[in-house]
Amino acid sequence: MSLTCEFERVELPLSHPFTIARGTHEVAENVVVRITDGGGMTGVGAAAPSAHYGETAATVEAVLPSLLDEVREVGDPHALDEVERRLRRVVERNPAARAAVSIALHDLAAKRLGVPLYRMWGHDPGRTPKTSFTIGIDEPDVVREKTEEAVEAGYPLLKVKVGTDDDEAILDAVRDAAPDATLRVDANEAWTPRQAVANIEWLTEYDVEFVEQPVPAGDPEGLKFVYERSELPIAADESCITLEDVPRIADRVDIANVKLMKCGGLREATRLFHAARAHGLETMLGCMEETNAAIAAACHLAPLLDYVDLDGALLLAEDPFEGVDLSDGEIHLADLDRPGTGAREV
Ligand SMILES: [Mg+2]
Repeated sequence: MSLTCEFERVELPLSHPFTIARGTHEVAENVVVRITDGGGMTGVGAAAPSAHYGETAATVEAVLPSLLDEVREVGDPHALDEVERRLRRVVERNPAARAAVSIALHDLAAKRLGVPLYRMWGHDPGRTPKTSFTIGIDEPDVVREKTEEAVEAGYPLLKVKVGTDDDEAILDAVRDAAPDATLRVDANEAWTPRQAVANIEWLTEYDVEFVEQPVPAGDPEGLKFVYERSELPIAADESCITLEDVPRIADRVDIANVKLMKCGGLREATRLFHAARAHGLETMLGCMEETNAAIAAACHLAPLLDYVDLDGALLLAEDPFEGVDLSDGEIHLADLDRPGTGAREV
């Protein structure tokens, strides 16, 4: 079958400048991919490249032509395993670019079958955990305002970014503004192992559910040091990128945080979840600053997961796509009334 492929860079302004321990963003650049079959049906996906993992919109645009050549060469929108395998062979190091193609092809395959993606996979839409909503780093007063906004919007799970000299004041502000919320904390590698142990000690007083990536990914011994001394569960994000990382982190964290933009596709993400479970880990799906053209697809994996952090599109001021309804932090998969991922242009 002849498949037509195209891609387009989109600028996505964020609602608030988004700061984590490594830096600040005001605009996210994504690259939207469209794959159209002979009957004119189109699947859509997107890459949300992260400079931390060596990708930019420009690197995504540079490799997409070779990736999309493979899609056309296979010529079968249902040959999802075969296409993902080929994509990995062509460009191993560009996971966001590969993820965009994987998402677009899965969207197209499910649309052609006339079912939402979770139905194509056989997942139970009633088993979706709620998503967290992220509060970026800011002055404690601003953090308080952002937390109030999030509570007002109905988000029951908040992920708090830390890794500053003000971390205790930030947690104070969040807990004060959201006394009933479940709080998760993400240090994005900012602490030394000893700082992490000391910080986790006072974090227990804020009733925190888990702590994500307390120390640099390059310090696996430090991660183990923290894990062995932490009363709170530890999640690996920067330390958990590909399938090969799962056995390496299994004895030093509790939770594997998988992202499509790190591992390169929907099928590879599923492999990571099963591998993580086999190693006794809990599973989480996270995201970058992503349009709904990508987030909508990730929502269909939610029934496989213990924790979900799919707020990428919720943090955008404008998004050319709508996706799965995430109001109140609930992933309303069962309410989705259209086939594919549910992403559609607004
Ligand atoms: Mg993280």
